[in-house]
Amino acid sequence: MIQTIGVIGGGQLGRMFALEAKRMGYNVIVLDPQEHSPCGQVADEQIIAAYDDLAAIADLGKRTDVVTYEFENIAIASVKHLEDNGYSVMPSSSVLEITQDRLLEKRFVRSCGIATADFAEINRFDDLSEAAMTIGFPAILKTVRGGYDGKGQWRVTSLDEARAAFNAGKGAQLIYERVVPFVRELSVVATRNTADQVVTYPAGENSHDRGILAMTVVPARVGEDARARARTIAVTIGRKLEIVGTYCVELFLTASGELLVNEIAPRPHNSGHYSIDVTQCSQYEQHVRAVCDLPLAEPKLLSNAIMMNILGAGTGDHLTGEEALLSDPSIVLHMYGKRHAVARRKMGHFTMLVDGSIDELAIARAKAAHAKLGWA
Ligand code: AMP
Repeated sequence: MIQTIGVIGGGQLGRMFALEAKRMGYNVIVLDPQEHSPCGQVADEQIIAAYDDLAAIADLGKRTDVVTYEFENIAIASVKHLEDNGYSVMPSSSVLEITQDRLLEKRFVRSCGIATADFAEINRFDDLSEAAMTIGFPAILKTVRGGYDGKGQWRVTSLDEARAAFNAGKGAQLIYERVVPFVRELSVVATRNTADQVVTYPAGENSHDRGILAMTVVPARVGEDARARARTIAVTIGRKLEIVGTYCVELFLTASGELLVNEIAPRPHNSGHYSIDVTQCSQYEQHVRAVCDLPLAEPKLLSNAIMMNILGAGTGDHLTGEEALLSDPSIVLHMYGKRHAVARRKMGHFTMLVDGSIDELAIARAKAAHAKLGWA
């Protein structure tokens, strides 16, 4: 019987996971190098240690009944160490291995018969000219490992720019991707359990600002057909990966209706935060259920919603404007307890419940609400 869940990573995803786990009666121990991490503030205990401190990782395994993680850039050795010592970790190291490497991930997606952007592996300077010839411009060079929130990415429109990006990569292995002229960016959050039950949330529509998610609209303003195909892709990927837990598949929808997978996140996702406020079972609760070997709940969308991230501005650590924001009763505010509002760091988000279908007016209302917030 599972009583205590271990979480590697103390960020906001771990925090929202821990809050749900606590509500369901579990104990939570988090491992993170930073004291008073967002998750550590709400967990029963925090082990202060680096993610690759194998002794501390084993200690987490020993003191918990199952271990999960809240971000994919942890050392694979840490997850393998738990597995090798007989501790239960979900998702498994083989899922992490694929999803933390953009090349393995794209090859895996293609092996499922699902489309991705054209890409090439870049190991040497000379690989660039060949990629430029076969794939062309505009393109995006990305580090194969370790990038997130737009970090480790360079948009290039010429061979000279590609060479400059290669140099900026400082020897890291890169992937060269064709820029997809998408009409919508979508994501499907889903959860799979050990009994191979898979549930999906309705496809959300995402807007990014300089590589960081700014807003998610649910359900996505696309046709029923695209939503259904996106769902099928997410289910196929979950089953083929044999993932246990909540995961997210990010996709591009093109003008001709094609869906291309951009990324798989083997964990709850920023674009699924809204599920806390407008579904009967959030992506975090589904993750608790999956790792605790419980049945999943087919999500019911109780209201349409717009989620907006609240980023730090680097001008002060205290949020201002909450009073004005919360004068609108359709808004639910979530803050992550981070002490320092570093520029472009995710500090919180809000969900706006929307009656009826989502239109430009509703989006303008969400943006106006967001504009009331500041930092002092
Ligand atoms: P990623 O880290 O791969 O999720 O990239 C962050 C964001 O950059 C994506 O959500 C897109 O908005 C944009 N992006 C990444 N790759 C591509 C691509 N191949 N074509 C067009 N836009 C992209």
